[in-house]
Amino acid sequence: MIPPRKPIVYIVSAPSGSGKSTLVNVLLQMTPRLDFSISYTTRSPRGSEQNGKQYHFISRTEFEQMIRDDEFLEYASLYGKDYYGTARRFLREAEQKGNDLLLDIDVQGAAQIKQKLPDAVSVFVLPPNRKTLEWRLRKRGEDSDETINRRLDEARREIENYDKYDYILINDKLEESSDSLQAIVLSERLLRSKSPLSAEDEKVAELADRYRLANMRDRVAPILGSFGTLPRSARQ
Ligand code: 5GP
Repeated sequence: MIPPRKPIVYIVSAPSGSGKSTLVNVLLQMTPRLDFSISYTTRSPRGSEQNGKQYHFISRTEFEQMIRDDEFLEYASLYGKDYYGTARRFLREAEQKGNDLLLDIDVQGAAQIKQKLPDAVSVFVLPPNRKTLEWRLRKRGEDSDETINRRLDEARREIENYDKYDYILINDKLEESSDSLQAIVLSERLLRSKSPLSAEDEKVAELADRYRLANMRDRVAPILGSFGTLPRSARQ
């Protein structure tokens, strides 16, 4: 019997308003054998969200019972109130199907996953600058000024953690970012498959390489600057 292939776990994190959900949706549509981990949360559904689609919406009591039953691979309490967590069963199910798994989680969750699964591939999506992020948040028309300011503040804190990620994407043009994200996913599959790379594969790997943390620091510095944050290397 062929042993089940170990799934590649991809983590995507981004501040709210970076366009991450669209990128993730396009990636899932375009990529075969990639499952999405539908997180559990205690927050209420927003807009057209459906239970079991974007999230499993559960009560605090239910969430705390799942913690006690050790059902989470990681979980975090965000914004000082709501719980969000990744259930272990999604990883088991992906493995049984021979698929990879995509997690859309915050920086705390990403750190927990990297500790448990060091081979996980993490991608941080950055907005091009603070002004664009503010404009995108206002355009959504979902939030009050106070919430927008809070989100911008949270974005700054999250962005400070960019250098804990393997790849950095700057989401300026959706189509370009989408192609780049797909290249990262494919390239990691190719690198792990251990088969010789075709000329086409080499191109994919080259594109993905451009977004590796080490190759992105210069491009990230002005974005951090727009949020009033210095790169870690320049901090005390
Ligand atoms: P929202 O409430 O806007 O859907 O999500 C808020 C944040 O929670 C986003 O940054 C999202 O990536 C993160 N998130 C969603 N699911 C999980 C999860 O299972 N674990 C963790 N740690 N964060 C999550």
